[in-house]
Amino acid sequence: MSVTKMMPPAGRRTALLTGITGQDAGHLAQHLHAEGYAVWGMIRGQNNPRRAEVERDLPFVHIIEGDVLDLGSVARAINLADADELYNFAAISHVGYSFTHPSVTMDVTGKGVLNVLEAVRLTGREDRTRVYQASTSEMFGGVDGEMPRTGYNESSPLHPRSPYGAAKAYGHWIARNYRESYGMFVVCGILFNHEGERRGTEFVTRKISRAVARISLGLQEDLHLGALWPRRDWGYAGDYVRGIHLMMQRDEPEDFVLATGMTHSVQDFVEQAFAEVGIDDWRSYVAYDRTFERAAEVGHLFGDASKAHEVLGWRPEVDFKGLVRRMVSHDLELARAEAVA
Ligand code: GDP
Repeated sequence: MSVTKMMPPAGRRTALLTGITGQDAGHLAQHLHAEGYAVWGMIRGQNNPRRAEVERDLPFVHIIEGDVLDLGSVARAINLADADELYNFAAISHVGYSFTHPSVTMDVTGKGVLNVLEAVRLTGREDRTRVYQASTSEMFGGVDGEMPRTGYNESSPLHPRSPYGAAKAYGHWIARNYRESYGMFVVCGILFNHEGERRGTEFVTRKISRAVARISLGLQEDLHLGALWPRRDWGYAGDYVRGIHLMMQRDEPEDFVLATGMTHSVQDFVEQAFAEVGIDDWRSYVAYDRTFERAAEVGHLFGDASKAHEVLGWRPEVDFKGLVRRMVSHDLELARAEAVA
């Protein structure tokens, strides 16, 4: 039986999210909980120190231990959760880190996807468990310095420019392959950069918002950055998880790009963030540090989300300025708490 013909499950729906300690799973868990789902989150490793954060911030999540590198543990989690929907966010997701740790990035970000798909198949749930694969705009990459004439869409050619992008491209294609080979309900969401208050501080947006907040309160002197010229299509993660959920509710599994269609440089983000705290001479606080440069840079990313607009009725609500404001004000709150501590 093709999964696309299956009946919607009766009663409360259950979702299993891998990568529950990460940004997207956190936002999506909240969204699914509000939609009435039972939410299960897979957490890696024995005594993972981030487990306490998940228990504090997402107290409704049922935590299961498991690792996408260990197929058996994923199969066990799927059975335990009796998952109707499985969202695969587990990944080594930082481009810079992937250059220094390419092999483990391929294992987790690439082969991990295969293990998730195989776990669904080997548990005999290919007709019952829908799978979401977190694909990424980094798969497009592009040729150095070349500005794409139009936004990337679902059929744009892939040209990854990092071990992370290459591993994600493998994940994207193996997910599509399982859809085509086994008739599984597998969708890939090709998401452009999406940020917010849950973003890790190793990513440039959160690094900037946190530093700007701390500089404005005298807790930090300067901000060290690499290239300021690259351009990204930055949206708000909370908007993007709504699109992810919509993709999984359709009758037929298909891939979708989620993006704002607007592009800004790292420097634009820096200027806007400093402006939020009333600092105009941002240059006196920002220092260049070549250690943050990458072996190959993705110069320009912007997406064309027309298919998601038309088919899913999805639109992002937070614009660039709104995103920067949201992140800086969140980090100002944290910095104020740090200042009085
Ligand atoms: P990415 O688009 O997934 O690589 O997201 P990042 O937030 O890590 O990087 C976005 C852009 O910011 C890239 O072009 C980086 O080269 C650039 N960048 C400049 N300075 C930094 C820095 O200090 N940290 C990070 N993470 N990126 C930086």
